[in-house]
Amino acid sequence: MQATGELMTESTAAEVQQLIAEGRAAALAGDTFTARARFRRATELDSGNVEAWIGLSSVVPILAEKRDYLRRALAIDPTNAEAMASLAYVEKLLAEGLQIAPSHRRQERQASGDASPLLSAPEPPKPAVEVAYCYVHPDRETGLRCVQCSRPICGSCAQMTPVGQLCPECRKARRPPHYQADLSHMLIGGVTGFFAALIGSVLVVVLGGVPFFGLFLAMLAGPLTGALTTRIVEQLTRKRGRAMQAAVGIGLGLGALPLIGFGVIALLSGSFLSLLLIGLWVALLIITAVARLR
Ligand SMILES: [Zn+2]
Ligand SMILES: [Zn+2]
Repeated sequence: MQATGELMTESTAAEVQQLIAEGRAAALAGDTFTARARFRRATELDSGNVEAWIGLSSVVPILAEKRDYLRRALAIDPTNAEAMASLAYVEKLLAEGLQIAPSHRRQERQASGDASPLLSAPEPPKPAVEVAYCYVHPDRETGLRCVQCSRPICGSCAQMTPVGQLCPECRKARRPPHYQADLSHMLIGGVTGFFAALIGSVLVVVLGGVPFFGLFLAMLAGPLTGALTTRIVEQLTRKRGRAMQAAVGIGLGLGALPLIGFGVIALLSGSFLSLLLIGLWVALLIITAVARLR
């Protein structure tokens, strides 16, 4: 650690941000030499900067080097999804016996004119970068291509990742697997939520009737049921993300319907407070579960 924490002045932080921005611009323009220099300088100035490590890993051709930089990024922020997905990809390529990233292989070969001895997997020679039109914006001329599907993409569609430029679609598909829920996962989430809310509702009615602490316990049961639901859903499906949030939220809401009916009856008999507490309970239940499935 050279210049992190208190040692890092505001001007250094600004310089690091500037270097990262320049590095990204250079990488998008295809100038990996400049990009490499900028990102490397950024990591030297602030060895605790995740963006700088991810940037550097994206512009070096050697896979082992990429892996090292991604590990540095993950050591700083172990939850960084970008670094995790890229590290998994790099490790897969290494396991396949590759030493140089596919996106760089082509460039290096074009630059040197023949196959580098570092190449372990032969690749048919590709034509030099020809001008094409972005598949998202057909009116934009571009020399960039997605490294995964090789479709042409413009500068604003290309998203730089440590494995090269990706188009919006490929980038989406590269989300970590636990964010890719299908219908069966959502169904499990919904059904779990339904029964959890149903059982929780019974608990609330029983606890709510206990004098003194009953009401307090009933309120506490809301978030606890929500947390427990999430735990069960995660055990069963190993999925999270928006689709799971929606499925579990709807399941919980449906399971809590009888309780809401109970509240309406309470309201009709003049107890506005009961309806308020029931509403609060259902809200806490759903908010807790949905927040935990992010
Ligand atoms: Zn693509
Ligand atoms: Zn575009």
